[in-house]
Amino acid sequence: TSVEERYVELTPRSKIAFDEHMRLIPAGAPGGISQTLPFPHQPYIERGDGCYVWDADDRKLVDLVYGDWLYPLGHHHPAITAALHAQVDKGPTFCLPDPNLGTRFATLLLDRLPWMDKVRCTPSGTEATMIAMRMARVATGRPKIAKIIGGYHGLADPSLLVNGRYPNPYHVPAGLIPGTVESTVLLPYNDVAATVEVLQREGDDLAGVIVEPILGGSGMVPATPQYLRTLREVTRQLGMVLIFDEVVTFPYGPGGVQGALGIEPDLTTLGKAIGGGTPLGVIAGRRALMDLLDNRLNPSPGVRHASTVGGSPLCLAAGVAVLENLTPDVYRHLHDLGNALRLGVGTLAKKYHVPLQATGAGHFFSFHWTQTPVTDFASAITTDKATVGRLILSLYNEGFVMMSAQAGTLSTPMTRAHIDDLLSALERSLFACGL
Ligand code: PLP
Repeated sequence: TSVEERYVELTPRSKIAFDEHMRLIPAGAPGGISQTLPFPHQPYIERGDGCYVWDADDRKLVDLVYGDWLYPLGHHHPAITAALHAQVDKGPTFCLPDPNLGTRFATLLLDRLPWMDKVRCTPSGTEATMIAMRMARVATGRPKIAKIIGGYHGLADPSLLVNGRYPNPYHVPAGLIPGTVESTVLLPYNDVAATVEVLQREGDDLAGVIVEPILGGSGMVPATPQYLRTLREVTRQLGMVLIFDEVVTFPYGPGGVQGALGIEPDLTTLGKAIGGGTPLGVIAGRRALMDLLDNRLNPSPGVRHASTVGGSPLCLAAGVAVLENLTPDVYRHLHDLGNALRLGVGTLAKKYHVPLQATGAGHFFSFHWTQTPVTDFASAITTDKATVGRLILSLYNEGFVMMSAQAGTLSTPMTRAHIDDLLSALERSLFACGL
């Protein structure tokens, strides 16, 4: 049997759920991210605990998705679950703020990012990056934003240019606000000389640069420290706002990748894991920029920021529990697991002479199938997506859930034994896929 046939055998109840959903809901998933081809149909998940999830067919699977980077501490973490229950009993939100949760959350966060002065919360990473880009325009009075080729920052218009939509990644998506292409400057990741040249050329028109320190959606490609340091120096010289989008990467270390490298952006955006599974985005920054959001100081022309459920008590209660539990031991363990996985994949690739690569850093990883070392967007898109997709489908059959979009992540309840099992499953999958 093929990996596709085996999947269909293993997931009959997901198939029923898929057929029911498809009548009412595009792609069969009400939100989140749907599994695309080669998955014959969407798998549905009923619950999670630790490093496991149970699908609609009650199969216990090791999770490598974790809600798309939401749970470095695993599913159903006792402290986060308790914080959520306690806040639900009081009420999830009132729009008017709780007397303690905002300051508690901001204090914990700013202790980790001492180069930042203030934080503001949103209900998504998209809104955090959208507002941060607008803040850069208002602060500088300049019209354009630079983003990385292959960078993804959510669904705001500039973010949708060139970020991993195959088969034609350079295709401009329909429906963007007119002028989006003209007002968005594209920078080649990890190419210091070319990037400096573009920034200097765009100079007075460019309000800021937004960058992921590890390109996520384009395949978990870390920036070189030199690239990020150069961005810091040059944006400072040219009067541009530097935004680090650490929506995904913040759990890399106590102060995210910026903290690990000692690079101080002007603004940073966070999301995903910081909310412990609730919809929480964050903008953190220096006082002068953050005060643009203060409508007591700036009735006009500040940056309008209001949001019905952004930074709700429910999300902040979870966020506090997350920050209290991301300890030095957690980071050490996550990095050990990620390094063991990448090393093991390299060993497998050598053993079978196959062009399999695992990129990433810390507990973030992605699989690629290409001879070209993956260091930026151009090299990432040389990967044979169909082959990686079939490997991921086969891993599902083997009991490991990963996104067909290639993004993977690990969690603290996992042990080295899980990594060894994953590597064995990957080895069997090479055969199952006829590779
Ligand atoms: N920034 C990065 C780096 C992301 O990967 C994402 C989502 O995947 C976002 C921003 C947008 O976050 P959200 O999906 O919460 O809007």
